Amino acid sequence: MVVCVDLGGSKVLMAVAMAEGQFLRRLKFPTQSEKGPEDILDRIAAGVQEMLKAGAETADRIVGIGVATPGPLSFPDTVVWDSPNLGWNRVNIKEEMKARLGWEPLVEKDTNMAVLGEYYFGQMQRCQNLLYITVSTGIGGGIMLGGQLYRGQNGGAGEIGHMVVASGGRICGCGRQGCLEAQASGTAIAQMAKELGQEGKGQGMFSGLGTVGAKEVGEAARRGDREARTIVAQVVDYLGIALGNLVNIFNPEKIVLGGAVSLGWEDLLLEPLRERVKAEVFPLNARDLQIEVTRLGEDVVLYGCIAEVGRRKTEGGKRKAEDGRSCIRVDSTNFF
Ligand SMILES: [Zn+2]
Repeated sequence: MVVCVDLGGSKVLMAVAMAEGQFLRRLKFPTQSEKGPEDILDRIAAGVQEMLKAGAETADRIVGIGVATPGPLSFPDTVVWDSPNLGWNRVNIKEEMKARLGWEPLVEKDTNMAVLGEYYFGQMQRCQNLLYITVSTGIGGGIMLGGQLYRGQNGGAGEIGHMVVASGGRICGCGRQGCLEAQASGTAIAQMAKELGQEGKGQGMFSGLGTVGAKEVGEAARRGDREARTIVAQVVDYLGIALGNLVNIFNPEKIVLGGAVSLGWEDLLLEPLRERVKAEVFPLNARDLQIEVTRLGEDVVLYGCIAEVGRRKTEGGKRKAEDGRSCIRVDSTNFF
């Protein structure tokens, strides 16, 4: 059994799971990052203890703990550096968790865990050249090349959300202008709707009480609201630019989209994005390309924790890239 922790900017998902992928127990609570790293890590450690309360038998069968955290995360020392989503600077999660639990966890960036989850548990398993892109409050990515996770020199690779797609565009949390995250994330969608409201427009999206986010914009677009559909078209445009760039750079076999916006807007985004990207990239790079939305939902990061903890435990982390270049297609979520 594996303990999995998905530490996100807004919520923490935790689970005890079998190595084959069945979840036995779950916990979910708000991150409340403003309380600082000590408080969050204390609550995660308490959550682990709570999930293991079922008895000594459970604790004895745990083979490891996997912790996924927002980046930037250095590798191999796994220190969170200047994370805009957590507001943390230089926090060594591995050491902090070891001090609290007595076990050294496996720590990985959340989008890296997600691409591993997709690689081992997704609809097309063992895709050698696979990109995972989360479109949620922010935008991030995980990169598998030749069956190996690509972290870059310092662990900082995969920051797809900070690819500039609009010169002189919206100001990003990283300080630049026109990053994909600033133009097409859930936060950007809410901002676009808010700006329309301030101009006295977008009334089709403001039918209820409360703030307007991607959910309300999507619902208005499905009703045919013209302004909401314009926002959706802009998001498709920016994501299309970014995915086209990535396809021509990496020539992946598959791109998997995840995160709340991808999951909630699948009917609005997926087909237009497929058409846009296939029309714009080199024909050779479009030949085998598939773009899909993850079937693992918001658990994709937890699945990555299960897979990576299990893999390193059983194989000592020494496995080489697998032979062959074809994915193994499964119709439902099978487990390796
Ligand atoms: Zn940025």
